[in-house]
Amino acid sequence: MCVKLIIPGVRGLMLGILLSGSMVMKADEGMWIPMLLERYKIEQLQAAGLMLDAEDIYSINQECLKDAIVIFDGGCTGEMISGSGLLLTNHHCGEGAIQSHSSVEQDYLTDGFWAMSREEELPCEGLTATYLRYMEEVTEAVSRGVDGGQDPEEQQRLRDRNISRLVEEATADNHYDAVVRPFYQGNAYYLFVYETFRDVRLVGAPPVSIGNFGGDTDNWVWPRHTGDFSLFRVYADQKNRPIPYDPANVPYTPRNHLEIYAGGVQQGDFTMVMGYPGSTTQYLYSEGVRIMVEDELPARIRLRTARMEIMEKYMKESDRVRIQYTSKHSGVTNAWKKWQGTILGLERMDVTGMKKDFETQFARWVEADGERTMKYDRLLPDFARVYRDMARYSMAVVFRSEAIMPVELFRQISEIRSMMDQGLDTAMIRSRVDRFYKDFHMPVDRDIFAAMMEAYGEGMDRDLQPSFFSEIRGKYRGDYARFAAEAYRKSMFSDRDEVLKLLDRYAKNQERARRMIDQDPLAVCLDQFSELYATRIEPVYGKLQQQLQHLYGKYMAALLEMSGDRRLYPDANFTMRVTHGKVEGYEPWDGIRYQYSTILSGVMEKSREGTEDYRVPQKLISLYETGDFGRYGVNGTMPVCFIASNHTSGGNSGSPVLDACGRLIGINFDRNWEGTMSDVYYDPALCRNIAVDIRYVLFIMDKFAGAGYLLEEMDISW
Ligand code: GLU
Repeated sequence: MCVKLIIPGVRGLMLGILLSGSMVMKADEGMWIPMLLERYKIEQLQAAGLMLDAEDIYSINQECLKDAIVIFDGGCTGEMISGSGLLLTNHHCGEGAIQSHSSVEQDYLTDGFWAMSREEELPCEGLTATYLRYMEEVTEAVSRGVDGGQDPEEQQRLRDRNISRLVEEATADNHYDAVVRPFYQGNAYYLFVYETFRDVRLVGAPPVSIGNFGGDTDNWVWPRHTGDFSLFRVYADQKNRPIPYDPANVPYTPRNHLEIYAGGVQQGDFTMVMGYPGSTTQYLYSEGVRIMVEDELPARIRLRTARMEIMEKYMKESDRVRIQYTSKHSGVTNAWKKWQGTILGLERMDVTGMKKDFETQFARWVEADGERTMKYDRLLPDFARVYRDMARYSMAVVFRSEAIMPVELFRQISEIRSMMDQGLDTAMIRSRVDRFYKDFHMPVDRDIFAAMMEAYGEGMDRDLQPSFFSEIRGKYRGDYARFAAEAYRKSMFSDRDEVLKLLDRYAKNQERARRMIDQDPLAVCLDQFSELYATRIEPVYGKLQQQLQHLYGKYMAALLEMSGDRRLYPDANFTMRVTHGKVEGYEPWDGIRYQYSTILSGVMEKSREGTEDYRVPQKLISLYETGDFGRYGVNGTMPVCFIASNHTSGGNSGSPVLDACGRLIGINFDRNWEGTMSDVYYDPALCRNIAVDIRYVLFIMDKFAGAGYLLEEMDISW
């Protein structure tokens, strides 16, 4: 049992209310930089119940929590739970790896997978686990030589040069990677040095009916009953260093791993989440919020709805297509649903209005001082102007990510071209081609292409449409489906065998192969888009974006000045952060109160609805019916999930939920519907992170999967 080390000081107790960029910042709000906890935050955390010191969380001198936390697969978080490389993350983070080992005959998604010995652990090509070795503030070094007299491009060039030098220095005599990331809209810079392991093997995953129980129906919703976890092992060479997969590799010994606390959670318990929140925009100007709520998110939602409906139609028709597209489909639905919750929350709280009120106060604060007036006077009108000028170009950017990039064959064409440009040999290209076509079903992509092009034709001004749209309107009389059918019939990329012929050609005559691609009808469409974006959209959008960036830089500087210190937390940028909160329920609407936890009987209740999302494996039903919960149950019930008021975001998937002693009590996997707006506006009364209770994870491994031997290498306390 850990003991409370420090008596909270007055500073810690008085931090309940701070002025933030948008409005008043609440006590539990914020994603804090681990290195800065000591200076700004630790006393507040201790006052809230934390029993650790800042150095126990982040240190470069001693073993600390940061050494047990990883970036999993470049986009999620994971945590080490044994001295032999065991890594825990979400099922939805491991899904790509699980899926890559699955086929109709051997369906690990549906049936789950458990290695019953180290030899059975499955290597996962391309999967990585990345450890933060240290971070350092480098604001001064990045800004060396930069002064206000230089134009913004020159300033950026100098910064980029300084950054490259810092990265080079940090990685000169080691195998680490380094990045420098801007914080506070470029008002501060930090260097991050990482060590990436590339032999990460699948150890276990429950069936999707546990790992993604509730599916899209429950996604972003509380109450929840999902066992959203999967288990991997990191391997290293004999000297404990990263190395690509080799059967002779040995389990990695991490610098630290988390102790597991299986004694359960109670209402009001202190919790802390460490991990990698991807991106938030807490300090948006009001017009930015308005555009998000009224224009951009609705457009994104519409485009994704169309894509999803097409995928679903084909997934229902065939098991093969279902397996091919499960992971792709959840990649589309996830944000699609979240955005709807975000709109709901932002509208309900009238965040645009709140921001406007704040901006009135801000303008008064600027006017009250001569120096401030000189620096910040033009900020708000300039924001309004830039946002107005940007509108149609921002929409083009939305269409690029939601209508053009999603066409799988567009991406495949770019990929093959880029491999050919790098001069890769045929065998290498062939292996990537094989991987792509294993999970490609042409009719899905053809129909998506037709729907996306139609949306583009209707949503974008004509002068920002490539010329093949005139052909669709003329020769095809606006029949996008017919245009798509013909393009896909004629394109060699529709058919794996044709692409293999192209590779034969490439082996003999590279130039000729490239020319063949250039003439392909889908490549022609893609090239027209590329040219249009490169000449007519990106240059204008880029300039406006730069102006906007400059304005936000100034605005953030003003907000920091207004708050008196850097006690505002920086927006998430996929760097390690710490957030804290309490285990607690909430009242989503008048008259409704949600409890903080769920139990297995809730799974059974939902299963009675009989829908696909609520299917339950027979074995779990038997365990439930016999009450066979082992040590993991409490008074005849089996805990499944809980919620807490930690301020998390996408990228925090798989993050450890820690107790006051830094022990693992759950795995973060989602947020609640009424709180998904927290990336823009965090409300402590409404925003909750959702975690799978660690006791459910252990129960599933041990009792359900019969892989209890894995628990022997974990440090579990009760
Ligand atoms: N379910 C979320 C996601 O996949 C987890 C993290 C979050 O709260 O955004 O993005």
